Amino acid sequence: MIAAVLYGPNDLRIEEVETPQCGEDELLIRVKAVGLCGSDIRTIFNGHKRIAYPQILGHEITGEIVEVGSNVKKYQQGERIYVSPTVPCFECSPCKRGWYCQCENLTVPGTTMPGGFAEYMVITKDIMERGQIIPIPEKMSYEDAVMTEPLSSVYACQENADVTLGDTVVVIGTGPIGCLHVELAKLRGAIRVIAIDQLDARLQIVKQFGADDIINSKNEDPVARVKEITAGYGADKIISANPSTEAQQQAIVMAAKRGKVVFFGGVAPGKLTEIDTNIVHYNQLMLLGHFGYDHLQNYKSFALIASGRLAAKKYVTHVLPLAEIKKGIELTKSGEAIKVVLQP
Ligand SMILES: [Zn+2]
Ligand SMILES: [Zn+2]
Repeated sequence: MIAAVLYGPNDLRIEEVETPQCGEDELLIRVKAVGLCGSDIRTIFNGHKRIAYPQILGHEITGEIVEVGSNVKKYQQGERIYVSPTVPCFECSPCKRGWYCQCENLTVPGTTMPGGFAEYMVITKDIMERGQIIPIPEKMSYEDAVMTEPLSSVYACQENADVTLGDTVVVIGTGPIGCLHVELAKLRGAIRVIAIDQLDARLQIVKQFGADDIINSKNEDPVARVKEITAGYGADKIISANPSTEAQQQAIVMAAKRGKVVFFGGVAPGKLTEIDTNIVHYNQLMLLGHFGYDHLQNYKSFALIASGRLAAKKYVTHVLPLAEIKKGIELTKSGEAIKVVLQP
């Protein structure tokens, strides 16, 4: 079968590899659509500390079951499924507290085991028992189902930070994740959503997801603009979904009293952010970190897309064959694509 195999940082090869065998406790799926995630692109260029090379990446996975192991009773050939890449161990300390995305032994297809950038993929017993497989309803496309993975993280972030009715929300960074943040904040009842980026092309796109105000932070002071828009008060929730430490500094200054600031995007390893903690202290700000999602948040995200309340189609601007993954990377990096989905 054809697969995109990462041999090391900046060494991605599209090549013929052996089709994996379906064990008696496993499933074999024909991968139908797999998302190209920003984190995949980071891993392709910079590597990842948990990856075992050579590895088949791809964690936003959908497919059709083509083979069912003899011991597996729950699934049938021909079923269309979404496969969540979060497989906790259920035994470590974070797992025992219910913090599954902080699992110390997380199994992640595309990182710790072969993922979906291939024609076929084995769904192990672990994934079936401790992960999450969601059947895709007939009316839902594989491409739409792929959006469950990025949405889950966004959904979990806004649920944890309690983005709610009447909020003014700022989203810094308007890649696909930022666009999801804007649309979801509106769905959760935010009355005003302000989007900040440095690329005009992206700021034009984010408008279609419901941003009320857009700010190009290259051309104007985003803190001053947010204060102006909010009559001097600042915003209730600020989500920094980008890798900039400067954006993290600004996020704190544009928060309203008792506002919540969420660091959603990671910054380069070792990079430090200087903050005026007096602002945090006197204004009683809450600084939150966000990473991942749990099973219920994943399921609710899937249901949100399946219901049509969040139109996944608007995000998937490019569907390409797996062999064109490098083109997909370019389209994503330039901002021309919102979301690239690959068909192996
Ligand atoms: Zn992803
Ligand atoms: Zn665990």
